[in-house]
Amino acid sequence: MPEKIEVKEQKEYHPKCPHCDKVLSQIFFHKVRTVGMTGIGYLAVYSCPYCKVALGTSANSG
Ligand SMILES: [Zn+2]
Repeated sequence: MPEKIEVKEQKEYHPKCPHCDKVLSQIFFHKVRTVGMTGIGYLAVYSCPYCKVALGTSANSG
């Protein structure tokens, strides 16, 4: 397994939702207050605007 992964910007196309297969020109996020994660008060949950499936999360201290 490689120790590093190269991150590249892709400008040729927008990502697609893995659930409804629609091209995502926008992504919704929901600021969710968390309990049980010390030091992190909020989590951002990203969702597809078409089918509402959660696409991912990220820690958000703000
Ligand atoms: Zn979708």
